[in-house]
Amino acid sequence: MGTKLDILPIDKWFNTNGKPLIISGPCSAESEEQLLNTGRELAKISEVKIIRAGIWKPRTRPDIFEGVGEIGLKWLKKLKEETGLKTCVEVATPQHIDACLKNDIDILWVGARTTANPFSIQELADNLKGVDIPIMVKNPLHPDLKLWIGALERFNQVGITKLAAIHRGFYTYEKTPFRNLPMWEIPIELKRLVPNIAVITDPSHICGNRELLQSVSQKAMDLAMDGLMLESHINPSVALTDASQQLEPKDLKILLNNLVHRQEFGTEDFENLLEKLRFDIDHIDQELLTILTRRMHKIEEIGYYKKENNITVLQMDRLRQMMLSRLKVGKDLGLDSKFVLKLLQLVHKDSIQIQTKIMTT
Ligand code: PEP
Ligand code: MN
Repeated sequence: MGTKLDILPIDKWFNTNGKPLIISGPCSAESEEQLLNTGRELAKISEVKIIRAGIWKPRTRPDIFEGVGEIGLKWLKKLKEETGLKTCVEVATPQHIDACLKNDIDILWVGARTTANPFSIQELADNLKGVDIPIMVKNPLHPDLKLWIGALERFNQVGITKLAAIHRGFYTYEKTPFRNLPMWEIPIELKRLVPNIAVITDPSHICGNRELLQSVSQKAMDLAMDGLMLESHINPSVALTDASQQLEPKDLKILLNNLVHRQEFGTEDFENLLEKLRFDIDHIDQELLTILTRRMHKIEEIGYYKKENNITVLQMDRLRQMMLSRLKVGKDLGLDSKFVLKLLQLVHKDSIQIQTKIMTT
């Protein structure tokens, strides 16, 4: 998939000093006191550079707290003047954008529900023509990388180059320890496809609870993500939204202190050895793919033979036996059985497809 995105690297529009960008603040601004007290504590944590707050909240059902509205922007402005921290707010309509611009909000972000709707994104983008403000785009609710990139493209097309992505995980029906599945391969693929895009991980909405925040934040750092957005509240137990995932500022400080920062690049000796190991991996992968191709050719041969002799594509006994013997080989070799099973299933699925095609043509 080709993209024509022209993105300004984040360090050209926000002074990160080569460190991960840390954004924190309440899920929702609830009162002037709650916002200012939270923000004042956050301002004491040197890593925190940007205050976030939800002003208009997208809620699943009506008749519950839907945010304080425009008045909250005044509180944010006051907090910014007092602490010097930058501010960012979620926008979902052109009116939200206008209100934010009037109140000197520094950065806008688009929520997961909005990213999922290209009409809304286009409306927001059209409203931003000629405005120079950074936009952060959260991933859509479901794991659709093209839709995420599409939203970035719509903003880019109207001239916004200060763009970043926020990874907040993906909705799933399955019961998992996460509120939203991280599916790290998706933000990694986004980074591969979109040069210069910074990805900020949002562990709060991935975890949905405080217990997993530290490990998910560390994972984001280990995968060289560019920053973290973590929700914090002066008293999470009475928060009007997302109470179970917000951190008290003092606990946020502990979380940030516990993070281990590994470098993406090392010393010359390290880089030379790494280069050699990668060279070996390149060759091993080449061999792996060659062997897989040989296997698929055999599968084709068998397919033609089965067709000539009117035999079904699938023989359950053979499949069972094959899986068991390969799982044993994998185990003896020290490979993880779940991994071997998944690999065999994938190879087998493709083999069936090849033979079915032979049978039906
Ligand atoms: C939020 O950041 O509080 C929020 C509503 O997030 P999301 O759009 O990721 O659900
Ligand atoms: Mn929230």
